[in-house]
Amino acid sequence: MTHDTDAIVIGAGAVGLACAFALVQRGFETIVLEKEKAIGQGVSSRNSEVIHGGLYYPTGSLKARLCVEGRRQLYAFLERRNIGHAKCGKLVVATEPHEIERLDAILDRARANGVEGMQRLSGAEARSLEPGLRAEAALLSPESGVMDAHGYMDALAGEISAHGGAIAVNTPFAGARPLKGGGFAIRTGGDHATEVTARHLVIAAGLGAQAVAGTIGTYPAEAIPPLHLGKGVYFTMTGRAPFSRLVYPLPIPGALGTHYRRDLGGQARFGPDLEFVDAEDYSVDPARGEAFYATIRRFWPDLPAGALVPDYAGIRPKLHGPGEPHPDWRIDGADRHGLKGLVTLFGIESPGLTGSLAIGEHVAGMLADGR
Ligand SMILES: Cc1cc2nc3c(=O)[nH]c(=O)nc-3n(C[C@H](O)[C@H](O)[C@H](O)COP(=O)(O)OP(=O)(O)OC[C@H]3O[C@@H](n4cnc5c(N)ncnc54)[C@H](O)[C@@H]3O)c2cc1C
Repeated sequence: MTHDTDAIVIGAGAVGLACAFALVQRGFETIVLEKEKAIGQGVSSRNSEVIHGGLYYPTGSLKARLCVEGRRQLYAFLERRNIGHAKCGKLVVATEPHEIERLDAILDRARANGVEGMQRLSGAEARSLEPGLRAEAALLSPESGVMDAHGYMDALAGEISAHGGAIAVNTPFAGARPLKGGGFAIRTGGDHATEVTARHLVIAAGLGAQAVAGTIGTYPAEAIPPLHLGKGVYFTMTGRAPFSRLVYPLPIPGALGTHYRRDLGGQARFGPDLEFVDAEDYSVDPARGEAFYATIRRFWPDLPAGALVPDYAGIRPKLHGPGEPHPDWRIDGADRHGLKGLVTLFGIESPGLTGSLAIGEHVAGMLADGR
């Protein structure tokens, strides 16, 4: 049976674009459908733009494997295309003696995950790198960095076009039905509603993944995990950025903890915190700043009063609610939902930006293997 195109990817965020990039490189004629009027308007535009080392995630999990692999690929991609990034390194700090045991457990896990160059530092060694830091002990991750997420997504879009692929913005996915001879008929909404057939379908719709999967009539409801919205807000700071490296406290349940970064423009930014919310709302409540002062002063006691200014917010597409265990990403093939030629990505929260190129390779591999 012939189809209009080999593959359709729903969602033009970092992950959908990376999936399309991997597919066009394998010779799949690919179209990306995006409901917004431009690429990269979803979760990929509201994050920390940190290139993660891959320290924290359970060894062998998709997050651990695809973060470490994706990070290596990402640095090479950013270098080759001259996209803004800085391998500035990161310090994870224990600010109390009782936290040192947890710090050492992260070091063991980072090494088991294959993270290169990890070093254990005393408090004095950490302060010699970043005067002004308060730390009982620290881990140095030299492979961590910061990047220009939009520059990255623009470059991916350019690569997709250069390989003959297409990105249709203002084109919401409205539903799909599996075809008898294999593949899918995909309906789009918007001003130019139409139907197009494709042999393969990838759902990389971020916060919309569950809704998109739910519009495919034969998608088993029990294979669609519940979506929880994990909001995180950021504050920026007036005055000079205090540290050149990323500084992270120990992780909190469900997130990596409110951290410090100096972005590519030299601006100090702090965040994100974690609050489970019922609806998408990107406002930043200045009252959340109170908790930021307390958290930041644990590792930077000199944070001046009144220095923090509300910045922006992002929402994590979480697969767990408050107090529940933090699950792995879900990259579901036919073994999970029974629909051959379909891959659905659920819960692609951090480190999804870092891991995106490896996620793309993984998805293209699943489709090429017929899974
Ligand atoms: C606060 C926060 C901080 C983070 N920090 C980092 C970090 O520092 N480093 C890191 O590696 N990761 C980080 N992440 C994670 C990272 O941002 C995400 O994993 C990644 O951006 C997810 O990309 P995506 O393409 O899956 O989703 P999105 O970027 O949300 O893309 C999905 C796209 O699908 C589109 N879409 C949805 N429904 C439809 C439909 N029906 N039809 C057509 N299109 C549709 C949306 O408009 C959107 O453009 C962070 C996330 C958050 C929330």
